[in-house]
Amino acid sequence: MSEALLVVNSGSSSVKFAAYDTGNSGGGADSALARIASGKIEGIGGTPRLLIRGQDGAVLEDRAISLPADLAQAQQQAFGQLFDWLGRHADGRTLGAVGHRVVHGGERFSRPARITPEVLAQLDELTPLAPLHQPHNLSAIRAIAGLLPGLPQVACFDTEFHASQPWVAQAYALPRRITEAGVKHYGFHGLSYEYIASVLPERLGTVGEGRVVAAHLGNGASLCAMQGRRSVASTMGFTALDGLMMGTRCGSLDPGVVLYLMRGLGMSPKAVEKLLYEQSGLLGVSGVSGDMRTVEASETPQARQAIELYLYRIRQQLGSLAASLGGLDALVFTAGIGENSAMIRRRVCIDAAWVGVALDDAANEAPSSAARRISTPASRVAVWVMPTDEELMIARHTLAVLDLL
Ligand code: AMP
Repeated sequence: MSEALLVVNSGSSSVKFAAYDTGNSGGGADSALARIASGKIEGIGGTPRLLIRGQDGAVLEDRAISLPADLAQAQQQAFGQLFDWLGRHADGRTLGAVGHRVVHGGERFSRPARITPEVLAQLDELTPLAPLHQPHNLSAIRAIAGLLPGLPQVACFDTEFHASQPWVAQAYALPRRITEAGVKHYGFHGLSYEYIASVLPERLGTVGEGRVVAAHLGNGASLCAMQGRRSVASTMGFTALDGLMMGTRCGSLDPGVVLYLMRGLGMSPKAVEKLLYEQSGLLGVSGVSGDMRTVEASETPQARQAIELYLYRIRQQLGSLAASLGGLDALVFTAGIGENSAMIRRRVCIDAAWVGVALDDAANEAPSSAARRISTPASRVAVWVMPTDEELMIARHTLAVLDLL
């Protein structure tokens, strides 16, 4: 009988998950992995709900659940309810492992790692580098270890894909002792970019081996420059704050602003952290929302300006990455905004006409959730929309680390 594998992406108040059948069929990662269910638990610490979809996307469960007020206990009980559900719908499969998205692997983790108490302690030390994500990623690991102590767990890192970047793309112009203490560009959304890199050959053929910029535009947003399907530069840096404007994060900022916020305005480091991570970006500029759908639908001048600034940052930073690559052969849009907002894609492509992008408007507007080309046949740069699949990447890594393939 085959085993099931659970993939977990845990945030501050939600847990997204996907369950796979590992097949035991041999023949490589793709033939062995079949998604059997996916879903999320939202509203942890508030009004929790469980949503589970089956293999075909049909809703199997969508109901309020009851959880305690204490966050750690709530998270543990949320996983308990999920395991109960999986147990009842496992068709005889046993749960063999859990793979986690962990945002920061620092310098030490350039490959996925099996969780041990030592690994967990090392990952705890990276929490100040990703305060919005890392603590929730790690508390999910602890919650599951508390429920099922013997179950193997694997951490897969958003920083890993960028370990291939050359020194100049990684270094800040800071004194050596600071660089050597690990203060450098790491880059994030690596699991998403790694998935995109894995499907480039089948979509783009040899063009996919060339100079490609992938634009992961979701709540978090970044660009990644790839050459030979390896990361050579990205817009995010030491933390997931840098680069593009995001839902609630500011993106690139003169570091002098941070000094002024603390010295000039007397803000505490904690208040600055909250401002930059949770109150800036689309939310801060529009005053309406950090959610692009809501901002797009708003008529206020501030919301219009928020979109203009969002696009200006992409225009500038796409130029910067094209310069790092010495030109551009392909541009790939992915994640919530990249996959769904035809307006944002159209405006980005108009701005990128100088580098050889010519958009096929009809292809861009066509409602589809499949990977598709949206540039004209004459476009010097091939432009694509590709749905990302970070969960599949985590599942593949987890099986490989545990040698279950
Ligand atoms: P993600 O983090 O990848 O789930 O992406 C979330 C972002 O995608 C949010 O800002 C959503 O508003 C945005 N999004 C999802 N669907 C659409 C859409 N149809 N149009 C514009 N933005 C969208």
